[in-house]
Amino acid sequence: MMEQTTSETPQKTFTCQLCDLSSPYSYYGQKPPNTRAIVLLEECFVTKDPFSPDKDKFLVLGSTCSLCNTRVCVGSDCSLFYTKRFCMQCVNKHLDQFPHQIQAELAKKKQISKAAVS
Ligand SMILES: [Zn+2]
Ligand SMILES: [Zn+2]
Repeated sequence: MMEQTTSETPQKTFTCQLCDLSSPYSYYGQKPPNTRAIVLLEECFVTKDPFSPDKDKFLVLGSTCSLCNTRVCVGSDCSLFYTKRFCMQCVNKHLDQFPHQIQAELAKKKQISKAAVS
């Protein structure tokens, strides 16, 4: 039986800087290895899908904000993809520069989460 040696690369971990979600990732970039001709729209933190026996399946954990370089997960509370990845802090800061449709969607979401809290 093979022993695990220390030469093995330490596991890399992606941590969302907004919600503290943390998960090991296997690849950062736009084209995950061992996938059939998949090119992502942005550079992402990617991991193999642990729930799928299919080697081609992978999960996008998160990405880097194109404005402030914060690492954010793809959760809708933490980031938004609109031609590029934006963290929610930058979205809120530059909200007037996003199209009205996105502003309306975010406003709707805010109302829903407010209602859930109260
Ligand atoms: Zn997050
Ligand atoms: Zn940002």
